[in-house]
Amino acid sequence: MRHSSPTPEERTSTVPDSKRFPVEAFEDVLAANVQHATAYGGSDLTGRAARGLAIVTCIDSRIDPLSVVGMRPGDVKILRNAGARVTDDVQRTLLLAAYLLGVQRILIMPHTDCRMVGSSEADIHAKIRGESGTDTRSIEFRTSDDVDASLALDVVRVRANPLLPAGTRVGGAVYDVHSGRLRPIEV
Ligand SMILES: [Zn+2]
Repeated sequence: MRHSSPTPEERTSTVPDSKRFPVEAFEDVLAANVQHATAYGGSDLTGRAARGLAIVTCIDSRIDPLSVVGMRPGDVKILRNAGARVTDDVQRTLLLAAYLLGVQRILIMPHTDCRMVGSSEADIHAKIRGESGTDTRSIEFRTSDDVDASLALDVVRVRANPLLPAGTRVGGAVYDVHSGRLRPIEV
C-alpha cells in the first residue's frame, strides 16, 4: 500500500482528458509563475484595500487599473467585467468590499474604444451568430450606445444602493486608452 501522493505525471495519466488540467494551454503561465514565486518573498498585506478604493472597470487588456491610478497591490479592490457595467454581482461585491474590506470610495471606470460601446445587443448577438452559428440571445451583454450615458446610469445605480454604508463616495470617470487620462463625469 502506497502512502506517497502520485507524481504529477502519474496524476495526469489517470485523470480523464476532460478533467485534466490542460497544461499545454498554460505552459507559459505556469513557467512565469515559478519565476514569480521565486522572486516573491512573501507579503504582509491583508485582504483589506489599504487605500480604501474600489475600481469597477472593463476587461479590456489595455487597462492596468493599478498603474492608471498610481497604486500598488494591496491598495485597491478591482472588479472587472465587459464594459465596466454595474450588475447585481458588482453590487454584491461592492457591499462586501465596503463592509468587510475597507472600501470607502468607488470609481466606476469604463474606457474609450470599448467593444461594448456603439453596438446594439442585437448587433453583438448577430455578429456572434454569423461567425460561429451560436445563438447567444439568452444572455444580456449590456452594451451601450454612449459611454457617458451608461456610466452615469451605473454611478446612479451604486449611489442608490440603500445598503451601501452612508458616506461611501461614488464617482465615474472614462479612461482614455490612447492618452492614459481619466475624464471624470458629473452625474
Ligand atoms: Zn471595454
